[in-house]
This record gives sequence, structure tokens and C-alpha cells, in this order.
Amino acid sequence: MPLHKNVQDAGPEADLDINPVYVREVQLRVPRNSIPRHGMLPDTALQAVRDELILDGNARLNLATFVTTWMEPQARQLMAECFDKNMIDKDEYPQTAELERRCVNILADLWHAPAAGAGLGDQEAAVGCSTTGSSEACMLGGMALLWRWRARRTAGGAAGVGADQPNLVMGANVQVCWEKFCRYWQVEPRLVPMVPGRLHLTGPEAAARCDENTIGVVAIMGSTMDGSYEPVLQISEALDALQAAGGPDIPIHVDGASGGFVAPFLHPDLDWDFRVRRVASINASGHKYGLVYPGVGWVVWRDVAALPEDLVFRVNYLGGDMPTFALNFSRPGGNVAAQYYNFLRLGFEGYRGVQQACQDVARYLSGEIAAMGPFELLTDGSELPVFAFKLAEPSSSAVRYTVFDVSERLRQRGWLVPAYTFPQDMQDTAVLRIVVRNGFSRDMARLLLADLRAQVHLLAAQPHPPAPLIPGSIKDRQGFAH
Ligand SMILES: *Cc1c(COP(=O)(O)O)cnc(C)c1O
Repeated sequence: MPLHKNVQDAGPEADLDINPVYVREVQLRVPRNSIPRHGMLPDTALQAVRDELILDGNARLNLATFVTTWMEPQARQLMAECFDKNMIDKDEYPQTAELERRCVNILADLWHAPAAGAGLGDQEAAVGCSTTGSSEACMLGGMALLWRWRARRTAGGAAGVGADQPNLVMGANVQVCWEKFCRYWQVEPRLVPMVPGRLHLTGPEAAARCDENTIGVVAIMGSTMDGSYEPVLQISEALDALQAAGGPDIPIHVDGASGGFVAPFLHPDLDWDFRVRRVASINASGHKYGLVYPGVGWVVWRDVAALPEDLVFRVNYLGGDMPTFALNFSRPGGNVAAQYYNFLRLGFEGYRGVQQACQDVARYLSGEIAAMGPFELLTDGSELPVFAFKLAEPSSSAVRYTVFDVSERLRQRGWLVPAYTFPQDMQDTAVLRIVVRNGFSRDMARLLLADLRAQVHLLAAQPHPPAPLIPGSIKDRQGFAH
């Protein structure tokens, strides 16, 4: 949510209601917007905060978010044991740092980075780190591209380098973090619009927008809008052709926020990762299909050459040489421990099984929804276990409701299925999207389908169109931009 204003409530709203059962003095007054003068007993505080949080949605019914909403008790316990560990304190918690290092190696291996020992020295092998999520990871990946572009321009002796405006080429379907990156670093975003039938970036569209000031191309695995994978290999080949024709040599960053933990297990033969030579860096969210609770992301560079040295800060806490690259300083260590736990606990086959189960449920759901009648699928969940669908004939007089009405109706039953409009140039296409995560079983899918059928039936039977909801921009809709 946005920034919070300092609004002081007046009247009866000014104080927090504490249930009299929890307190001895019934008249205990607790101001809502200023710190109370005196404290209260821990159990009273616990109950008061819990009572407020009851109003939050049920995370298991939230089909809007990509972020992990369930971990097993052992993982919770491990995270609780690590609450006091600060990721940055590498000298105090060298083992946590070691687990981070192993996770980076595991991901570099899953993403087919050329390994040390395979003709490469330690100095040339992949490098990476944990972050608070993909947003920070994308910021770091983007900065590396920007710094490398500057170095290229300076080395090439470009006249007036300082006056050139760098640009980044990507689909209009990118997650908001890339627009933030461009705004914060004053990079021109070159967004390739969506058109019906082309819902994400393609090779020719990307190459057509590149010039010598392009710091890189972002390819998404897969799109937040509809769960589809962007064709990384095709984009790379188009950039090869551009270079062969005398154009610039442009690196690719793969935003694998979700797909970085899906494609290695479900689409092992798809060339999207470091097997594609032009891919310089990849990010993923440990807290999405990496199956860890919120607070962890990853970014890996193909080799040290892809990560400019002057972005790396060296800290000698350990007496040795501890290079770090991050926007944050202090950060919880428990998420990294939980990521390593998941790798050990599940192994390759375990991850594959979890992602396969999600995909099976997603495809079952999309198949049933397609067969229902009023809807048309844009994707079917066969790439990410995520799919988007719209009303088959929104302009027909037979359909008097919108996807926003469907979303609203499902919400009455507790289901969070977001409805939103696509970005440029498809703002008039409104869709519903379902993200299937670990723990969303086929039984729950059946319940959702029954509710969806019932609500669609009721909506269709309405004599008058319901009052339209205002379809705001996708990024304004709370719950979407996960
Ligand atoms: C979720 C997402 C992000 C942002 O990731 P966080 O881990 O939530 O910061 C970036 N890119 C894509 C494609 C995403 O799906």
C-alpha cells in the first residue's frame, strides 16, 4: 500500500478497543496513532494485535499472490530459531553466510552456469547473492547492466558519453520493479506494447528497439500478467543477428522471479538460462516457487565479468575478503536457512513433484473454466502454473457483467481472484488471473469451480447490469503486483 499519512483520529475512533476480557481495568485507554504512555502485559498485547489481524484475508484462499503462504512446521521452527540472525553479520554468523553461498551454487547449477573446474577458474565462475526478493535482485541485475554499458561506452571512446541516455528494452508486461529501476536510475524504459495474440516480448520486437545506448533486454520467465514464458532463446538469436549486422552486443537479464524455480523442474529442455550465451544474469524469488515465506530473492551472474567490480563492496569482517552487493544492510537470516532447508528436504525430485502438482491443478482448473462457457483462456497454466482468462464476448448484450463483477462475487466467498486490465496497447482487455501455489489442492480447485459456476449463473440471471466497478490501472490494484 502507499505511504501512510499522519492522520489523527478524533472522537471514539481515537482509541483502540481492548476486549475487557483481556484487561483488569476496563477503562484502559490505548491511543491508536500515538505511542501509549504505559505498556500492558504481553498476553494483553498479543491478544489485541491478534484481534486486529483476524480481519486479514485467509492466505490459502488468496489466488492473487505468487508468494508462499504455507511451509511445513519444521521450516517454521527453523526460521524461528534464526530470528536473531542478521544476514549481514557474516563474521558472527559464518554458517548462515555459508548456507547462502551453497544456495547460490545450487541455483547457478540449476540454471546451467559454466562451473569452476569445467575449464573455468574460481575467479571466472558464476557469482550471486541473496536479496529481500526479486525487486532488489532486479535492481542489482539492472545496475550491473547499466555499469557495463557505461564501461562499454567509455572504452569505445563515444563522444559525449555523459549526454547519452541509456535505455532498457522489455515488454509492457514487466513487473513494476523494472519501471522503478528505470525511474530511479534515469534509464529510458523502452516498453514493447502488447497486442492481441502477442502478450509478451518477442525477438524481433526486442531487437527493433535496441541501439548503442541499450543497456540490456529483460526477458521474463514468466509474465506476471498471464504466466507465459518469454522466448529467451529467440530474443537472444534476434540480438545475435543484430550484432552480426554491425549492431551493438546487447546482454539479456532474465527475470525468473517465478520461472527460475519452475522451468528447471518442469521444462528442463527449454533453453532460457545460462545455456543461452547472451544471458548475463538471472533473478528469482525464493519466496515464490522457491517455497520460502516472504523475504528472500536471488540473483546470479554468469561470471565475474558480468558483475562490474566497482559495484561490489569488500568487507573484511572475517579477516578474509567478504564481497557484498546489496541495497539493504541488515536482513533476516532465517529465510536463507529456510531456502537451504527446502533444497535439502525436497531435492530435485521433491521440487519437481511440488511444481508438477501445481501445474496439474492449474491445467485442470483452466480446462474446466474454458468448458464453462462464458470464459476464454489467454493461457492455460502449462508454463507457470498461472493462467489468465477473460469473458468470451464482453461486448455481446448476452453478457451483462464484467470480470470485475466475477472477482467481486468470488471475494464474497473468500476467494481472492484478481481482475485487471492489460497494459498498453491492450488496456481494453480485462482478465481474471489464478496463481496455483503449493497447497492449493484439486479439492480446493473443485470448491472454487463450484463457487465460480454458481456466481456466474447468478450474474447471468440478473435483470440489470450490476453497477460497474472502476477498472483501475493494474498496478493500482492491491494484491496484483505480487
Ligand atoms: C513478483 C515478481 C517480481 C518482484 O518480486 P518480489 O520478490 O515480490 O520483489 C519481479 N518480476 C516478476 C516477473 C515477478 O513475478
